[in-house]
Amino acid sequence: MKNFIFKPFEEMTEEDYETVGFKSGLEIHQQLLTEKKLFCRCPAGRYSDDYDAEILRHMRPTLSELGEYDGTALMEFKTKKEIIYHINRNTVCTYEMDDTPPFLINEDALDIALGIGMLYNCNIVDELHIARKQYLDGSIPTGFQRTAIYALDGWIPFKDRKVKIVQMSIEEDSCREVSDIGHNRVYLTDRLGMPLIETVTGPDMKTPQEAAEAGWVCAKLVRSTHKVRRGIGAARQDVNVSVDGGTRIEIKGVPRLTMIPLLTYNEAMRQWNLLRLREELHKRGITKETFKSEDYDITSLLKKPHYIPLKNAVENNMKIRCVVLKYFAGLLSWKTQTDTYFSKEISDRVRVIACLTTIPNLIHSDSKTDTITSSDWQKIKKYSGANDNDTLVIVWGSEDDVQTAVREIIIRTKEAATGIPSETRQALSDGTNGFERILPGADRMYPDTDLPPKKIKDEWLNKIKSRLPEQFWNRQEWYRKLGIPDDTVDELSISKFAEVFKKAVTNWKVNPVAAAVVLIQFPKRLKKNGYDINLLDENMMSSILEVYSKNKMPADYILTALKNSLELGMFVDEIIPVPSNEKEIEKEIENAWKEMDKMEFIKQENTKSIFMGIVMNKMRGKVSAKIISENFEHSRKEFKNAK
Ligand SMILES: [Zn+2]
Repeated sequence: MKNFIFKPFEEMTEEDYETVGFKSGLEIHQQLLTEKKLFCRCPAGRYSDDYDAEILRHMRPTLSELGEYDGTALMEFKTKKEIIYHINRNTVCTYEMDDTPPFLINEDALDIALGIGMLYNCNIVDELHIARKQYLDGSIPTGFQRTAIYALDGWIPFKDRKVKIVQMSIEEDSCREVSDIGHNRVYLTDRLGMPLIETVTGPDMKTPQEAAEAGWVCAKLVRSTHKVRRGIGAARQDVNVSVDGGTRIEIKGVPRLTMIPLLTYNEAMRQWNLLRLREELHKRGITKETFKSEDYDITSLLKKPHYIPLKNAVENNMKIRCVVLKYFAGLLSWKTQTDTYFSKEISDRVRVIACLTTIPNLIHSDSKTDTITSSDWQKIKKYSGANDNDTLVIVWGSEDDVQTAVREIIIRTKEAATGIPSETRQALSDGTNGFERILPGADRMYPDTDLPPKKIKDEWLNKIKSRLPEQFWNRQEWYRKLGIPDDTVDELSISKFAEVFKKAVTNWKVNPVAAAVVLIQFPKRLKKNGYDINLLDENMMSSILEVYSKNKMPADYILTALKNSLELGMFVDEIIPVPSNEKEIEKEIENAWKEMDKMEFIKQENTKSIFMGIVMNKMRGKVSAKIISENFEHSRKEFKNAK
């Protein structure tokens, strides 16, 4: 393999990523904004930690049609987990618990999904076939998720090229995990069954930054419909990463796009370093065939260890075992990710599969940190007949769990001689990732016999198309030509007022920059003043801009008009101010000078702004600020002369 060593994140260049053959793709899960769930009529998006009942389930693998156990199925079986569901009567019915068959698919959800599919330039299927996708971690009580591919073969514009959209599915959301400790995993069921879409891109992104940038394009596209859910957990990304000679690894459930660059960098580094480790093993003569390990019960050997985790293990009558990895000396400290070493790959498997969830769950003789005394190490070495070329791993727990742990330590270490195991990995907050589960087999999808196929008629698609927003990248191109400031282009292009903007500029000839400020910046100002700007609707905005365009409202009154509309909950003509006549204006100007005359101390340079403030406070909307400003000088002279 190429002689390349990963640099720190900030120092990696595009060329470096090209050298290792970095490739990344996204699977984006986005909840749709519907009132109800996808296959039952329970409410969607009503989250609560309260529950009325608990249900306990055990997961058990079944043989596939080929008579084999799926890798994930077997792994979940090994963990011997008890799955506990918290159930709230307001958010779950008997469908989610597999006691009643599904209702027909929620058409509101499908309507939104199809629209998004068209925005992604996809081909829509003629007929929707609902399938079951196997889920064995307990996150779906039935053991499968209902899912249907509805769009294929689309694209998004990306830099000077296109990123492929491979396929889109509409599917049910899974449970929210509450905790996963030892052999108990607890789930909340409120999210279960909510409609979401999964969008799969091609592995077209060539750097970690590109992976995040493509994610933003997709996020803006779905937001521009205003029919998707927002907030924590409403959009979750699975990110695929591979390097030359590596394996396509999925990092699951990345909650924020900003995490993607560091996560994908670390995964690329992990794969690269595992490939280098394999090279080192082969140099030492270790292959899948020649790999050798032994394991020993050393419980009675360690009578009074000072190392706290082992001290606790002895006090709690746990079993302690030692695995000897032949010719592995030093390799458990082989760097895999930032501040992360090969021993973590093993510890993760022990945590997830043997359920030894208290960390540290193992120690090893390659470690530089103090664990047990060197005389204890010597004792174990002598007992097991290990020499300086070997590495010793010590693990503790109940008899059963330690047996499982020893098996997993050996499996994972042996895999290092083959390459990178196929698995899904979880995103960690420090930008590295950890083992989640063995990758499910390809045959985890099978037809759902409960629901008939659904024809998707052209009339329906045409109706959806007629309501679709313009693709935001086309809007942006137009905005830039109009000279809209860069910091507003992005927001306006996915704003719910983008269509109002178009009408204002094309039909009513409102100045584009002014219209953009009214539609994007004014709501922000109102929000700062405590207004609920979610109540601002397209009707209010377009009425106000239309009135303004007909010179019936001065520009400096628009914000006030918005405030008034918000307070009323609608736009009415009465909001439009009646223009003042000259006499009224003169009177207010005179009053202002009188008022200022009573003020004790006014700085010369502030005179005008104070004058303007007093007059406009009374006259806003009835006269433009420009006219008052023009009257400043001569009215001051007049007032002085009159005195
Ligand atoms: Zn339900």
